[in-house]
Amino acid sequence: MNPSPLVQEFVENGCSASCPVIDMHTHPGPYKAIYFPNGAPEKMIQTMDRCGVRLIVAVSHAALCDPRRGNAFTENMINQFPGRVLGYWSVNPNYPEQVKQDVADFDNHLGFVGFKFLADYHRYPITGDNYRPALEYANEHRLLVLLHTWGHSDYDSPTMVGELAEKYPHTTLRMAHCGYGEWDESIRVANEFDNAWLELTGAHNANGVVERLVAGSGSEKILYGTDLPWFDPHYVIGCVLFARITDEDRRNILYQNAEKLLAPFGVDPSGK
Ligand SMILES: [Zn+2]
Repeated sequence: MNPSPLVQEFVENGCSASCPVIDMHTHPGPYKAIYFPNGAPEKMIQTMDRCGVRLIVAVSHAALCDPRRGNAFTENMINQFPGRVLGYWSVNPNYPEQVKQDVADFDNHLGFVGFKFLADYHRYPITGDNYRPALEYANEHRLLVLLHTWGHSDYDSPTMVGELAEKYPHTTLRMAHCGYGEWDESIRVANEFDNAWLELTGAHNANGVVERLVAGSGSEKILYGTDLPWFDPHYVIGCVLFARITDEDRRNILYQNAEKLLAPFGVDPSGK
């Protein structure tokens, strides 16, 4: 058995009173290709309660393809569960006029901490002009940008995130999936730029990656995420708990780093 008190507490209770998990990457609502039994907003809240997840940052499945309809779904969930859900505003770069309208309208929607880019799926590079209005706005207003990133992608590789990090220093760029497969390049970018962060969604299940990321960039640059409901929180929490890292590293990843990033958006570290 792992001797860590934090691990013991999770194993015994399924959650920890002193370690309130914050999930920085979730997708509520139906998805056309897969049946998710617990993907509805109220079911996701039940899952969060079961696993000791205090807060999620969400972008609905629908918003990934159809921002106009899907961002409204995300906004409804934020309003339905105050204190439990924040959101990313999804933009689709294949509709550049809509991106400009979304950016102009961003301030009228409460509970959103920034933007979500899914460049690999939209087949449009994160360095392309159509993303520029969102990046400039995020830079001006110090917002988060959740980027799907994948190793050696022509659309959202970690190297390309480095280009954005340099150009938009006041954004917080979140490398979801840690540039899957290009681990060392993702670590380099996170080390070189204060505003580039690693995020575990989907990367958690590659054996040894949590230790490699912590050794490479320090646990202070790593965020917890699950793609909930794609992965159960306990699965991803377990990958962090049973990695060969310290309890302080585990706390940094599971909630302390997220608390710091979300503090400007009204998230109180005391849980209020
Ligand atoms: Zn995702």
